[in-house]
Amino acid sequence: MCSSPPRGGTAQLSPLVEFAPLVAQLDTMRSQGRRIRMWWRDDDSYRDTTELRRLLMARRNIPIALAVIPGLLDETLTNLIHDSNRVSVLQHGWKHIDWSGGKSRPSEFPDSRSTFEVSEQLRSGRELLEKTFGSRFDPVLVPPWHSISRWLLENFGDLGYLAVSNEAPLFPLLSRGWGSREINI
Ligand SMILES: [Zn+2]
Repeated sequence: MCSSPPRGGTAQLSPLVEFAPLVAQLDTMRSQGRRIRMWWRDDDSYRDTTELRRLLMARRNIPIALAVIPGLLDETLTNLIHDSNRVSVLQHGWKHIDWSGGKSRPSEFPDSRSTFEVSEQLRSGRELLEKTFGSRFDPVLVPPWHSISRWLLENFGDLGYLAVSNEAPLFPLLSRGWGSREINI
């Protein structure tokens, strides 16, 4: 999910409802003897929270990628990640600010923004995450609200990213296969 940076408090969605289609699909595949490879991404990380610790406990050491907001990064999250096994870091924009002006869906990178300014902010964020997390950082851009300008989607490689992780249907890897550069989950 990607809405706004976490503020604490209780969950907004019922996991049983949210994951019902996924569980049903996995049950069907298991009954058919099929296996899949999947990866797990959680967004909006920037500080240590009870909810994040609960997630890291619940995964039972399954690898997980945290989409971290570099411009809000708090030392408590840095320490938590360094103390956790099998956690990698992706870049979740810069400061998770909505620049859409309310004219469209929320976006930190709408078409209306200066490409120079966007490039500089993303570079600052990427360098901070590289410096802070070293080899745990994977240069994958996760745009807040899954919203990204066409220019950025076409030029992310020139800005130092290997891929963009964006929104997609529930089982994109099954229905559409891997894209050449863009990775959907
Ligand atoms: Zn987000």
